[in-house]
Amino acid sequence: MRQAQFFSPTRRDIPQGAEIASHQLMLRAGLIRQTAAGVYSYLPLGLKVLKKVENIIKEEMDRAGAQQLLMPAVQPAELWEESGRLSDYGPELMRLKDRHGRDFVLGPTHEEVITSLVRDELNSYKKLPVNLYQIQTKYRDERRPRFGVFRSREFLMKDAYSFDVDEGGLDKSYQQMYEAYKRIFTRCGLNFRAVQADAGAIGGTGATHEFMVLSDVGEDTIAYSDTSDYAANIEIAKVVDMYEKAPEPQKAMEKIDTPGVKTIDELTSYLSIDPKQLLKSVLFIADDEPVLVVCRGDHEVNDVKVANACQVSAVRLAEPEEIEAIMGASAGFIGPIGVSENVKVLVDQAVKTVSDGVCGANMNDVHYQHVYPTRDFPVEAYGDYRFIQEGDPSPDGKGNIRFAKGIEVGHVFKLGTKYSEAMNAHYLDENGREKPLVMGCYGIGVSRTVAAIIEQHHDEHGIIWPTAVAPFDIHLLILNTKNDEQTQLGEQIYQELQQHGYDVLLDDRKERAGVKFHDADLFGLPVRITVGKKAKDGIVEVKTRRQRQVEEVPVGDLPSYLV
Ligand code: ATP
Ligand code: MG
Ligand code: MG
Ligand code: MG
Repeated sequence: MRQAQFFSPTRRDIPQGAEIASHQLMLRAGLIRQTAAGVYSYLPLGLKVLKKVENIIKEEMDRAGAQQLLMPAVQPAELWEESGRLSDYGPELMRLKDRHGRDFVLGPTHEEVITSLVRDELNSYKKLPVNLYQIQTKYRDERRPRFGVFRSREFLMKDAYSFDVDEGGLDKSYQQMYEAYKRIFTRCGLNFRAVQADAGAIGGTGATHEFMVLSDVGEDTIAYSDTSDYAANIEIAKVVDMYEKAPEPQKAMEKIDTPGVKTIDELTSYLSIDPKQLLKSVLFIADDEPVLVVCRGDHEVNDVKVANACQVSAVRLAEPEEIEAIMGASAGFIGPIGVSENVKVLVDQAVKTVSDGVCGANMNDVHYQHVYPTRDFPVEAYGDYRFIQEGDPSPDGKGNIRFAKGIEVGHVFKLGTKYSEAMNAHYLDENGREKPLVMGCYGIGVSRTVAAIIEQHHDEHGIIWPTAVAPFDIHLLILNTKNDEQTQLGEQIYQELQQHGYDVLLDDRKERAGVKFHDADLFGLPVRITVGKKAKDGIVEVKTRRQRQVEEVPVGDLPSYLV
């Protein structure tokens, strides 16, 4: 590619509103431009990287036996009614109508579509297992899109769905995806951890792992062992820890009747409290009834929306210190009851987990899916003193716990029969009995992965692409395009490198040398070859982006030098 014609507008200044390195560099190096809040266009350089990552994903998914297909971005709302998620999913789901008034959604994920697609086809055990994936644009109306493509509204995801005859089959499919994900992120040059991300550690079912790229700008916190493979999302680490330490649920609670109160709004006005106080609240099962203990005193929280209906049959008010004591001493449900758009789901789930004797474990899932539109909400608000801490012994008995920030780039999830049962996706087993398909789903944020790579691979001058995902292999600079010797040698090397199979970006612009070096560092291609003053002697300069030293190389030696 000749840079003089290449559409790669660069910027010198740090773009306004771009807080983290990857966002700044993607804008400065001309990889992306914002089209609307949380919606981005990929320029040629950005698209090349995206395709490199896509290709790695595709190779590893195919190697794991998955098959690629492509599903639509626009999905009929009826499918979401069938699964029951139309009301559950909340405002992240973008809804629209066609000219006939029919309801549609912009797909934030594709469990519904894929289940409807296979339910008439995968009807016999002989056709299973099957794993289908796509690389496709998702839309989530994120409350706070930020950090560029790191958390955008429209983004590229690889989503895969496995279909098995039973749990044993699902275990295998899950393991295959887990291994494929490790290969994918390793090939992308990322330093990552696969972390437990659900109550699976407690109950042994519903296993899910998040693939976290370690980075200070990550929005998640992970707890990991410094000597073993143990790693968990901090939420899970805390819940497991709490579960092990907690005594019997406290049952004797003083109740306040709340006659006629059904919604959070009614509840807060009945109690004359600020809705935000519900953030620090505890739900107990006392005499088979949910009891909500609400914080009476002041409590500072972020801007969190309180809405919708909730049924809490009995309520008790408490001082902040008392709440903290209760939280420290019981296995009740801890959490921000009432901050969801979907409070009923939250409370139902909480009631179930508490009555099952599992303290609040599922809440984390709900918590991420429905509760916190703002994830920077401090977990410490739960009363950190009682949770797992840095330096504690690891739960697996090996080493000590360390905390780190992580960027969630991938997620593998055992769905079981949730969707196949709700949407009637059955197969006939060997004995002719009808059974629901056993499903797993596996996502990778392709665009977020690009941002995560830049977070881990940059310096003050620009991006440092790992070779496997670099948009070009070599940046070839002709320092002075007015000099015939330089131009001729540059053109000759350009042709020869391409003949050897290298993808080369030739800087043939009429710019000063300083500008070219600056942009080369910003673009971050793995190898830079400079044709300058020594062109007349057939000597060029070679420098790798990662190491700063420059070497002079006779042109004839280039091929052996580059392999
Ligand atoms: P997050 O916790 O960051 O909101 P999620 O858990 O909602 O992500 P999943 O439903 O697990 O996301 O989707 C699979 C993958 O899609 C995620 O692991 C992440 O890499 C990516 N992803 C999710 N939301 C976004 C987004 N708004 N922008 C870019 N990538 C995203
Ligand atoms: Mg998540
Ligand atoms: Mg999300
Ligand atoms: Mg996730």
